[in-house]
Amino acid sequence: MPSLFKMPIDKLKGVGKRKAELFHKLGVDSVGGLLRFYPRTYEDWSKPYTIAEAPQNTVCCVRAEIEAASPPVRIRGGMILLKIEVSDGSDRMKVTFFNQQYLYEKLRLGGEFLFYGTVRNGAYGYEMTSPTVSPVGSAGIHPVYPQTAGLSTKQTEAAMRQAMSLLPEKMNDPIPENIIRKYHLCTLDFAIRNIHFPQKLSDAEKAKQRLAFEELLILQLGMAKLKGGRKETTTHRLEKDYSREFFSLLPFSPTGAQKRAVEECIDDMMNRPYPMNRLIQGDVGSGKTAVAAAVCYTAVKNGLQCAFMVPTEILAAQHFQSLSELFSGTDIRISLLTGSLTAVAKRSVYEALENGETDLVIGTHALISDSVVFQRLGLVITDEQHRFGVAQRSALISKGESPHIMVMSATPIPRTLALMIFGDLDLSVLDELPPGRQKVDTFLIDGAKRQRAFGFLKKQIDAGGQCYIVCPLVGQSEMELASAEEYAEKLKDTVLGSCRTAILHGKMKPKEKDRIMNEFAGGDIDILVSTTVIEVGVNVPDAVVMMIENAERFGLSQLHQLRGRVGRGKRKSYCIMVSDMQKESTLARLGVMCRTNNGFEIADEDLKLRGPGDFFGARQHGLPELKVAGMSDMAMLDDTQSAARMILEADLDLEQKEHRGLAFEIARLFAKAGGSHLQ
Ligand code: ADP
Ligand code: MG
Repeated sequence: MPSLFKMPIDKLKGVGKRKAELFHKLGVDSVGGLLRFYPRTYEDWSKPYTIAEAPQNTVCCVRAEIEAASPPVRIRGGMILLKIEVSDGSDRMKVTFFNQQYLYEKLRLGGEFLFYGTVRNGAYGYEMTSPTVSPVGSAGIHPVYPQTAGLSTKQTEAAMRQAMSLLPEKMNDPIPENIIRKYHLCTLDFAIRNIHFPQKLSDAEKAKQRLAFEELLILQLGMAKLKGGRKETTTHRLEKDYSREFFSLLPFSPTGAQKRAVEECIDDMMNRPYPMNRLIQGDVGSGKTAVAAAVCYTAVKNGLQCAFMVPTEILAAQHFQSLSELFSGTDIRISLLTGSLTAVAKRSVYEALENGETDLVIGTHALISDSVVFQRLGLVITDEQHRFGVAQRSALISKGESPHIMVMSATPIPRTLALMIFGDLDLSVLDELPPGRQKVDTFLIDGAKRQRAFGFLKKQIDAGGQCYIVCPLVGQSEMELASAEEYAEKLKDTVLGSCRTAILHGKMKPKEKDRIMNEFAGGDIDILVSTTVIEVGVNVPDAVVMMIENAERFGLSQLHQLRGRVGRGKRKSYCIMVSDMQKESTLARLGVMCRTNNGFEIADEDLKLRGPGDFFGARQHGLPELKVAGMSDMAMLDDTQSAARMILEADLDLEQKEHRGLAFEIARLFAKAGGSHLQ
């Protein structure tokens, strides 16, 4: 198999430069890569139904003969409509296609075809919209591949058939034989043939099981290697714990969870020979900033310089302001560095950092700039870390000599999964909210109730509260402004017309955003009509209503983050989701939000609904993206963990002949993710 990874994809017949580029877009560069590009799902054309027997509302295959086909016509909106009628001898069905006028030439001649789509028994009899049409001879199970514009699943299938013919007689299986036997896995040969072209769906399932096992095994071996490779020692050991002193600066007493997290961090930095590498995971509002501040305080008091990186200017400004206040009576010197500072202001921050006059710098990715040089960077903290790429994080880390690392995340991940993906990080969980927090009551309404909701907002504002309205999402970001402005304009004709309203959107200049955010935080604005730029981190204690338009367009974790912007003070807070979507799955998803405020529970549901792709995604954690393993495969984790241990005990460096395939696959999986957050 390794040799096929050296064969460029355009060696296949029918794959030229242009198509090779499309494959490249899908992450496929070589013939080997193509064989490892798996179907998203399958279409079962093996047992065609009659029209009456076809299950309603699910996609299936129907066999029928063309009865009539009328020439395509242009309809409203420039679409081209093609209508035909088919029959299976007992029943008739109307079939409609949009913008597929080329089918007319084929279908007008009549004959029998397979139609793969959803049968509906409507007011005018049976009907089907936009099915896939194939000749009767093409029965069987068809793979459906992820697509990109210009590259259909049929074309990928054709390329795949060719690639299959190049497979060697005997494939080298990366999984050693003893493991295959012990866990009753099928061979790589069986898996590759049956993941693409199974005779039965149960064979595809068997193949998928084995490939998921392989993927998790390789992930775990790779992580173990990363962990083993971490032998650096730290020169930044702390002498003394200053956390008590810090806690006395706080206007509140820390929660048990906050104290525990701080203790764990300080223990890492005081009593270990190697640098701290810790993830602080806490639901929105659990008080991660105070934990970071405590750790910074202690580090600075021990003579280290600290860098605190956050994803947005708004957040940087907010952290800077609150930490400046907190540290105002101390000797800690704190700076803010963001892209929107003037060149002069930037230069003075650079100088202060280089000659050690700044102890703590808070900033955006402006911190990564080459001009930033630290005198003695000993601690790097990143907030909302899923917003940063691996490269950005390591760029900052490499400005120090093996500094301590702390990352903070509000994406609550079930603990087992977190330990698995962050196998090389230590974990502190803030599983307790500050006292006095009330549950944010959450409602789902449809557009018809919008005016009533506005009335509710008005009442809250009259009582001294503030509101967020997250605008309807639009496809292009250029449209963002228009949508926010239009929305704010419409508000003028409602009960909210007299309220002080401002707009915040992603296209605004950072300075402008800061100004508005500060005004909102200062209570000078009642309603902030915003796109999702407010999603992360922002803290406005008097904000009591979060109204989200087009709630169905957001993922659960994102909705939870948005909701986390309210209920941060003592006031009772509310989240109103507006959606006209009637789909059952959507209602179920939004229902989860109404049912619970617990981020961990929501993350669990989110994982079930979306699969762990996002949690494993390179973008989020700098870890390889898994292609096959899904949530349902997580039960396999114990087995793959034991298998990984067995392999490493026998051959730590994977140098033995039977482990070469594994080493190759590890390199391949991790190459895509660009390494790990460890340098
Ligand atoms: P997040 O974990 O979402 O980053 P923050 O650090 O922004 O949360 O904290 C949210 C709010 O809770 C802030 O206003 C903060 O001052 C307050 N807070 C944090 N810890 C406590 C505590 N122990 N007691 C009371 N309020 C707290
Ligand atoms: Mg935060």
